[in-house]
Amino acid sequence: MAAGLCGGCAHARRVETRRGTVYLRCVAPGLPKYPLLPVLSCASHAPRALA
Ligand code: SF4
Repeated sequence: MAAGLCGGCAHARRVETRRGTVYLRCVAPGLPKYPLLPVLSCASHAPRALA
């Protein structure tokens, strides 16, 4: 999945349907739940902490 910034964002959730289709859902307040990917610029982007 070419998700752009969403791919490494703490606000992104991976959603997989029973048929195996994968979606990326954004849980940041005030933003569309399903952004048009790839997102190249986002003021709410929060880098996921490296574990
Ligand atoms: S906050 Fe921005 S970068 Fe992060 S998941 Fe939502 S749309 Fe993507």
